[in-house]
Amino acid sequence: MYFSYIQKLTSICAQRHFRLEVISFVGKRNEYPLFKVTIPGNAHKTVCFSAGIHGDEISGSFAMLKLLKSINFKKQNVPKIILFPVANPTGFHACRERNFQNINLNRHFRNHTFKKENRALYNTMKKENVHCFMALHGDDVNTCAYLHAYIRNEQPILLPRKILTSINRYIPICKKSRIFSMQAHNGLIVQPKPDGSFEERMHHEGIPYSFCLEMPYVYSVASAFSLNRTIQAEVAAMKTVIAEYTKSGQKK
Ligand SMILES: [Zn+2]
Repeated sequence: MYFSYIQKLTSICAQRHFRLEVISFVGKRNEYPLFKVTIPGNAHKTVCFSAGIHGDEISGSFAMLKLLKSINFKKQNVPKIILFPVANPTGFHACRERNFQNINLNRHFRNHTFKKENRALYNTMKKENVHCFMALHGDDVNTCAYLHAYIRNEQPILLPRKILTSINRYIPICKKSRIFSMQAHNGLIVQPKPDGSFEERMHHEGIPYSFCLEMPYVYSVASAFSLNRTIQAEVAAMKTVIAEYTKSGQKK
């Protein structure tokens, strides 16, 4: 599955002149490239989206293909955009959450020795001045969308709300007051508990906004939504972030 995905990714990036780089090779024989895509922007700020750290949560990776096809990147003052379309290539290829070593990579960004995937992602992020990071996930328990938001104190809470509003056109937002024993308000969990995730680590490193977007898991029996609709919602969420930084660029 991963290699047909790479074909699509390569062809879109070539057509649109986006920079596609291999940041590591992973797997038993290092046969799986881990990719970074860069969309150049004019504003000072950088946003970053990551998908597929849990290899079976595939919708985010396909949402990135759709974003790459449709984004109007020639506009003035768009932010620089970095994508990790498939953060766990071996998991994605096998359609399983964990990598080929049976490791849940998204619990290994803090207080653990980095696996090769974690190190490549982390080192790449260290070189970029990212203002907003968002990881895309699928939840096989809840049939609604919600957002974990690690927010640095000085940042307004408006952006996570806007993200949820843009999603609500396609997928309903969770209304529960507690999600996995965390306090939630209209789908928003502010300052979630530490879990060793990529997003928690990026918050710890000082990134002003670090989000984890959870969409209904597409392959589960309980999934009430099609892959296509989930992809549309994820593209809307990413475009909301991009639009936010496009506007703030124009003010300067
Ligand atoms: Zn996940």
